[in-house]
Amino acid sequence: MTLAASTHLAAHLGDLPLWDSEADDTLVCRAVIDETADVKTFVFEGPEPRRFAYKPGQFLTISVEIGGETVNRCYTISSTPTRPNTVAITVKRVPGGIVANWLHDNLKPGGTIKGIGPMGEFSCLNDAAPKYLFLSGGSGITPLMSMSRALADLGRPVDVVFVHACRTPKDIIFRAELDLIAARLPGFRVIHLPERQDGEAGWAGATGRISADFFKLFVPDFATRSVWCCGPAPFMKAAKTTLGDLGAPTALYHEESFDFGTLTGGAAEPVAEAAVEPGVATYKITFAKSGQVVEARADQFVIATARAAGVPLPASCSEGLCGTCKSKLVSGTVDMNHKGGIRKKEIDQGLFLPCCSKPTSDLVIER
Ligand SMILES: Cc1cc2nc3c(=O)[nH]c(=O)nc-3n(C[C@H](O)[C@H](O)[C@H](O)COP(=O)(O)OP(=O)(O)OC[C@H]3O[C@@H](n4cnc5c(N)ncnc54)[C@H](O)[C@@H]3O)c2cc1C
Repeated sequence: MTLAASTHLAAHLGDLPLWDSEADDTLVCRAVIDETADVKTFVFEGPEPRRFAYKPGQFLTISVEIGGETVNRCYTISSTPTRPNTVAITVKRVPGGIVANWLHDNLKPGGTIKGIGPMGEFSCLNDAAPKYLFLSGGSGITPLMSMSRALADLGRPVDVVFVHACRTPKDIIFRAELDLIAARLPGFRVIHLPERQDGEAGWAGATGRISADFFKLFVPDFATRSVWCCGPAPFMKAAKTTLGDLGAPTALYHEESFDFGTLTGGAAEPVAEAAVEPGVATYKITFAKSGQVVEARADQFVIATARAAGVPLPASCSEGLCGTCKSKLVSGTVDMNHKGGIRKKEIDQGLFLPCCSKPTSDLVIER
């Protein structure tokens, strides 16, 4: 070990203060790990040594500057709170995607981003059970990986079946580490489920998609397991419907969606023209960048008005939690009811969350 490395290690041992995104939201990238051809893990520290506290399965909302604009997106923490000195996100490239591709192409060790969080309720800690079935598709593996790493670090026997669905064996994320956990942790079973065995002629495991036969054959006691599912929308729909049809109790089923309604709804219902009723105040909202001026009802969230007007406005949680839709309010006032997705200092700087804000005057928004 070099002197610099041992000095660095010394600085990280001992009783470190907690990283607090309200006080210091900067995250310094320390390592970039290629997981598969289109998935990378980014490992972060605070600018000063800090401890990260979160529940496995929670996410951060990160902010990056791209082309002069601040863009916000949610990423689940893939690392484990049992190793608190760093925090990691694992990001899959998205065709045409702004942030995922920017991170892959630009973020290197030494680079910084901003982060707010942790946030989210998707954690097996919130509903502890004796037996789990973790179902992950593609990049939806991240919360289940965090939960698995935490269980593995605590070292006690567990009863977990971890299913990871992907395209081919080469797309299995965290393959070696999951196999290692399974080899060392009694009761932890991994089923990698590529759709096709392309690229790995000797693949001896299962192939295909999750189905009734898959569950009956590979997880016959599925009905007694607490299910935690995350992946693309069709994957989660198949999981929920198939398990439901097989008689698995819905109370034991939990899921988290990564899909978000960029342009096509998802955070709020569009405002129908005919919905404007007499008696409800209306205001004028000007979207400064697109130049659109639209009428907005006082009882509807600003994001609904933006959607109806076709103004592109990314959003995820729809309840003021994640901060994805954070926007600059150039003028006007809103009634904002957020759940932590925006910091006080950002509100003081004129930012707001359209997904949980109703207009109380005419507005000009920088969108
Ligand atoms: C709670 C939560 C946790 C998440 N965790 C993870 C994680 O652990 N790992 C991970 O990889 N992802 C995760 N995501 C998804 C992540 O937040 C991003 O949505 C994802 O990385 C894509 O963002 P992007 O900016 O690259 O794509 P965007 O630029 O938002 O584009 C998304 C899609 O919309 C299309 N699009 C964009 N603009 C337009 C336009 N003007 N017209 C037509 N189409 C358009 C793009 O082509 C692309 O297909 C999570 C999401 C949530 C809500």
